[in-house]
Amino acid sequence: MTNFTYKNDLPDNLELGPIVAIDTETMGLNPMRDRLCVIQFSSGDGHAHIVQIEPDAPQAPNICKILLDQNKVKLFHFARFDIAILKHHFKINISPVYCTKIASKLVRTYTNKHGLKNLLREMLSIEISKQQQSSDWGASELTKAQIEYAASDVLYLHKLMDKLNLNLKRENRYEIAEACFNFLPMRATLDLAGWSEDDIFSHS
Ligand code: MN
Repeated sequence: MTNFTYKNDLPDNLELGPIVAIDTETMGLNPMRDRLCVIQFSSGDGHAHIVQIEPDAPQAPNICKILLDQNKVKLFHFARFDIAILKHHFKINISPVYCTKIASKLVRTYTNKHGLKNLLREMLSIEISKQQQSSDWGASELTKAQIEYAASDVLYLHKLMDKLNLNLKRENRYEIAEACFNFLPMRATLDLAGWSEDDIFSHS
């Protein structure tokens, strides 16, 4: 298990397979205000590729190629936020996507705990630490603890997706999940366009 680190883009010719787990770390939770600092990738092979995005970084053609590739599923936990910040930063649309949080909400109706830490503990008996979640991701050099935390957010998403898919099929909700995943890029677009707090499907 190795954590590879890079600045501003993935290296040329890195093959991450048909389903790429992706997570981001930012200066905060407002994609319009807060800078994108780190993007983590994993193909599900136990290795993480961690890209630090410096202020005023040049374009990242290798990252954008993956985000735009219609034959690569971008696998996130809470895709809504990651899609919005990646779309805002790179000015591109991101699809197709899968979100383990949406999948969890559709099948784990017996709980309201849908955080990654809870999901990994219950479904895969994996313990991850969330201690570095609110640390300074804009620092010019990341700490070892930050890198390990960043990696743990992408390393297990493939296994988690497999488990959630079994449950989605068991409960006959796979089609609903797929339709929600297909809508997610537009949900992120609404967030960036000023409808972040409004549910346009609600009556009021
Ligand atoms: Mn994260």
